Amino acid sequence: MDCVFCKIANKEIPATILFEDEDVIAFRDTNPIAPVHVLVIPKKHIASVVDITEGDVNLMGKLVYAAKKVADELGISEKGYKLLFRVGEHGGQEVEHIHLHLIGGARLSENIKPV
Ligand code: AMP
Repeated sequence: MDCVFCKIANKEIPATILFEDEDVIAFRDTNPIAPVHVLVIPKKHIASVVDITEGDVNLMGKLVYAAKKVADELGISEKGYKLLFRVGEHGGQEVEHIHLHLIGGARLSENIKPV
């Protein structure tokens, strides 16, 4: 499958990996929008939150828990951070493999409004 995040999960292309277990992998975003910008993905290919099913509920929880652990390790939990899923065209999703953005290390703007 020609999916860049599947290739990262399969170690076919490099990434700065911060966490990995059998289901989930977290790595630094190559175009960070904040001092901390990490993507947490399921190793299993799921294109979008639109495509998750009841069988994925546990896996989605693992994404959030992995993000929490990475945030702890990076020392940003006390001040806080954002967790973000972009979904589809209106959500601005560019890579069609579910990814949870962990964004922090600075106070972040609330600039989410229609274009
Ligand atoms: P989204 O707009 O939510 O689909 O976000 C896609 C994110 O993936 C962007 O923040 C990109 O900078 C990031 N990205 C794309 N390719 C790579 C890559 N090979 N390694 C790490 N991050 C990537």
